[in-house]
Amino acid sequence: MENVTQKRTPGEWRELFSSQEFEEAYEYGGDDLGAVYQTQGTDFALWAPTAERAELLLYRAGSAEEGAAEPFDRTEAVRTEKGVFRVHKNGDLSGVYYTWLVTANGQTQETADPYAKAAGVNGQRSMVIDLKKAEPEGWDKDQEKLPKAPAPVVWEVHVGDFSHDPQSGVSEENRGKYKAFSEKDTCLDGNTGNPTCMSWLKWLGVTHVQILPMYDYGSVDETGKKIQYNWGYDPMNYFVPEGSYATDPYHGEVRVRECREMIQALHRAGIRVIMDVVYNHTFSIDSVFQKTVPYYFYRQEADGSFSDGSACGNDTASERRMYRRYMIDCICYWVKEYHVDGFRFDLMGLHDTETMNEIRAALDCLPGGKEILMYGEPWTAGKTAIQPGYEQALKCNAALLSDRIGFFNDDIRDSIKGSVFEVKETGFVNGAKGLETQIRSSVLGFCDGMGGYQPSSAHQSVSYVSAHDNYTLWDKLVHTLTDSMEPDFGAYNEAALAQNRLAAGIYFTCLGITFLQAGEEAARTKYGDDNSYRSAAKVNQLDWTRMHEYRDLAEFYRGLILLRKSFPAWRQRSLEVLDQISFVDAPEGCVAFTIRTGAEPEAAAESVLTDNVAPWQELFIIYNANKEAVEFRLPGGKCSDPEQEPSENYFALEGKWQLLTDGTRFKIKEDTKLEQIKELEGSVWAEPVSITILGR
Ligand code: CA
Repeated sequence: MENVTQKRTPGEWRELFSSQEFEEAYEYGGDDLGAVYQTQGTDFALWAPTAERAELLLYRAGSAEEGAAEPFDRTEAVRTEKGVFRVHKNGDLSGVYYTWLVTANGQTQETADPYAKAAGVNGQRSMVIDLKKAEPEGWDKDQEKLPKAPAPVVWEVHVGDFSHDPQSGVSEENRGKYKAFSEKDTCLDGNTGNPTCMSWLKWLGVTHVQILPMYDYGSVDETGKKIQYNWGYDPMNYFVPEGSYATDPYHGEVRVRECREMIQALHRAGIRVIMDVVYNHTFSIDSVFQKTVPYYFYRQEADGSFSDGSACGNDTASERRMYRRYMIDCICYWVKEYHVDGFRFDLMGLHDTETMNEIRAALDCLPGGKEILMYGEPWTAGKTAIQPGYEQALKCNAALLSDRIGFFNDDIRDSIKGSVFEVKETGFVNGAKGLETQIRSSVLGFCDGMGGYQPSSAHQSVSYVSAHDNYTLWDKLVHTLTDSMEPDFGAYNEAALAQNRLAAGIYFTCLGITFLQAGEEAARTKYGDDNSYRSAAKVNQLDWTRMHEYRDLAEFYRGLILLRKSFPAWRQRSLEVLDQISFVDAPEGCVAFTIRTGAEPEAAAESVLTDNVAPWQELFIIYNANKEAVEFRLPGGKCSDPEQEPSENYFALEGKWQLLTDGTRFKIKEDTKLEQIKELEGSVWAEPVSITILGR
């Protein structure tokens, strides 16, 4: 291969890195990149094939401001096979900070280590860490008590939003921090009957918490000198937890321990943790990637400029072998070292399908790895310069993905309550007509916008109506109501509550992974802010007083969550579940169907679930978006003609059904079981703008 260390133009780099020859010559398969710590010495390794030279600098602190402007040690690295630069240093280096001085493309720049496992304040310097020493107590037994194979109900929250509110019940020093999750018996106004934070989560009963970016990101100054807020979709150090959520961002081991403590606290509550990961772009081009191997990690247009399908100024190149490997290494690391149970991929549509499938395969090889969830946004923010021959992980390419890689179903989201982009556009629950077909597709977890594309597993579609982006569900509903009603707060509130309950009822009874933005269950508002990524913490935070003002709505969600978790059909991954669903004739503005438990071998084998299985073999579910009540004949009523054969759709030809909800409430017994409200025979009235659920 030609000399790869000479200076080139951006276009020439693009050409070099797009060649098979380069990939084959420099793909490195070792697992020792970064700083491999042992008490007697540390091995440093940096993949930088286009670098002329690299030097390792050691520092006493993580930043110049801490009195360590100059390195106390400098060592010229040795270039070894596949362009990996190596240095070995004797002695116990735990807690020592380091950087690389890399000369590449005619420039010498100091950079943090792309494989750094810990970092100083603001992530500018990497830190050697003894990961064992940064384990919280009981970490080795952390995952022992997690319930098996739940039907996922995911609650999406930002670390800060969870507890920033002074009414969060969390002590002042831990508000907005990882440590807020470790606080027990949190409540509003000192009243344990009003749970907040972790107590709320346990009460609500969600199975998974999805954390908005918790890797080290760049948009918040970790020194705390300025009051800043950001969601954190701007990655810097992918293997390192964000420092602004730690009680001490200066000592690299603190954020590692506290992030683990957060995950441990959730696990102790029986809740799994999903990490929001953003591998599709970096905070800026001034990144560890660009400083170590200029242009390799990014997609470029033909003229050499950076591709921008992320709308954040750059797109990484998942199809390049060493970036693909980087993603796989990083994800497996968060599983092994932080016990993460699932991953949500930001703008997954920018990644190639091969990379996504390889990540799935790598996770599957880990202990318990098949249970690890993977799903993402099957879209992009613009066109990307992916190398020819690769397919993007877009919704239209879902068939190319493993059936255990899910995707956010924006068709469900928008058909239920209207487009996220058109403020005033309504959906099925808030006034739009003619959406019955889309809603029926939603029940089956299909994407209607793709000509009824059928996912390859019943858990591939992520059913939801609100996430951190766009309006909260409540704000969207209020926006669409204000045009159609007299300005009367009480009336809005009642109408929005009914629409909210119906919206939740719909996506909670669709096939797929159930997903909600934290606080949606209690009418979360961002005061009409539809893009709050860097708005004040006060706009973003969960308002725990309001959460209790809307406690009845949250009670309704709690009933839906209980039903979702206990009715086995929704645990089924196999598409055989489609045969257990039968739509019933319904008038305009209504969708009605029955769903049966089926044989369901996968869940039945899990004895741990038997305590928690609903006693009903079949549910009858009616969505009524009309402003009038509608009468439905109950399916499988007693045969008036004794000669008539029972319909093969129903194995129990019993005419009695138990009403589980009339759309306003559930009856929950001893905090864990659903009970019937009353028994019905013959017919049922579906109330205006409501979901009716019956079981038998
Ligand atoms: Ca940071």
